[in-house]
Amino acid sequence: VLYIDIDEFKAVNDALGHSAGDELLKGVAERLRGCLGDADVAARLGGDEFAVIQMAIKDRAETTRLVDEIHSAIRQPFECMGHLITTDASIGIALAPGDGVHLDQLLRNADLALYGAKADGRRTYRFFEAGMDQRAKARRSLELELRQAITDGSLETYYQPVLNIEDGKISSCEALLRWRHRERGMISPAEFIPIAEDSGLINELGQWVLNAACAEAVNWPAHVRVAVNISPVQFRSQSLSLNVAAALAASGLPASRLELEITEAVLIRDDAALDALHQLRKLGVRIALDDFGTGYSSLSYLQRFPFDKIKIDRSFIKDIAGPGASSSIVQAVVNIAAASDMMTTAEGVETEQQRNLLYILGCTEMQGYLFSPAISAADVRRLLLSHRA
Ligand code: C2E
Ligand code: CA
Ligand code: CA
Ligand code: CA
Repeated sequence: VLYIDIDEFKAVNDALGHSAGDELLKGVAERLRGCLGDADVAARLGGDEFAVIQMAIKDRAETTRLVDEIHSAIRQPFECMGHLITTDASIGIALAPGDGVHLDQLLRNADLALYGAKADGRRTYRFFEAGMDQRAKARRSLELELRQAITDGSLETYYQPVLNIEDGKISSCEALLRWRHRERGMISPAEFIPIAEDSGLINELGQWVLNAACAEAVNWPAHVRVAVNISPVQFRSQSLSLNVAAALAASGLPASRLELEITEAVLIRDDAALDALHQLRKLGVRIALDDFGTGYSSLSYLQRFPFDKIKIDRSFIKDIAGPGASSSIVQAVVNIAAASDMMTTAEGVETEQQRNLLYILGCTEMQGYLFSPAISAADVRRLLLSHRA
């Protein structure tokens, strides 16, 4: 039994309306059926979830092949109401008879495996394993605790300096969330941001970070900007530009000193997303494209919107001195960015060798452990004071 959850359904529904959402699901169902054998069954479970029952399989490999086929079928763009939409799916798998003999038991375990696939960052699949029940419970309790953390003071924003590569001066600092959990110690945002996105808590959390970061940056030298990460979920909310304006007004930070980091939201090819970007730009804030080179990025996005900055993902910087294609990819991005007056920030710079190469390639800024990890607000204030002197 495969339990399949479609990404971006809610986004499509919110941005383009219910009929586009329905059309997307219809398209998905059609492609699902195209992947199945005559005896197999596909059913919509409600919302954006589907179940597939694959009959008479000989081994796991056979199921893995089906899952790969489903993934590649779903990843082809869909044409919905005149928009091109790219989506993906998380898939949980339970196999009879090991994971259950009754359909309800298999479905329950496939759902738990789906939870695991989502926790792995979605767009992937997981087979059911013993213990997944416990992990799903832990995730739910983490979600409840995160809700509390927003108000009880256990969240804190740290800041990582971003330097001009040529003169080594700090041009901005990126706000990065930290959660000091009473029992578990520091929990990484890589772990709790996806939970916040799933539960809708990200809007509240994101507003909290925006307010905290703007209020902090007002104390910094006037040439230092603050960068705030905006989740795709927040980006799609109608009220983002209002919320950004509110954070600026409450803190008194000039809009030109705030930079928003967005990852290429799946709907960036969509007019609604472009409108939202232009609306933010009108406020006077700067907009950076984060994690460039991962996921859906493509150079064509750079032509759709005049970003102020491209942040090149750490994975390219890591291999930049190696024999692979990383350095020529970085070179290509830097060239395109320079031609359109965009800055380029290299993420995750850890060595002098990387810095020197990036300098030669023409990258304008860098960020990484070579200079500093993210540090507390108090530490960043001290650093900025001594840095200026
Ligand atoms: P990101 O936006 O790509 O942030 C950069 C991450 O790389 C940070 O991890 C940072 O500490 C880490 N990093 C920086 N320099 C280096 C380096 O030289 N080497 C290595 N190995 N790592 C380096 P962090 O703070 O754990 O954040 C992880 C991710 O969580 C962020 O990735 C971002 O996507 C998300 N995140 C963090 N804070 C927020 C937030 O306030 N809102 C949203 N929506 N997402 C956030
Ligand atoms: Ca979904
Ligand atoms: Ca970022
Ligand atoms: Ca990044």
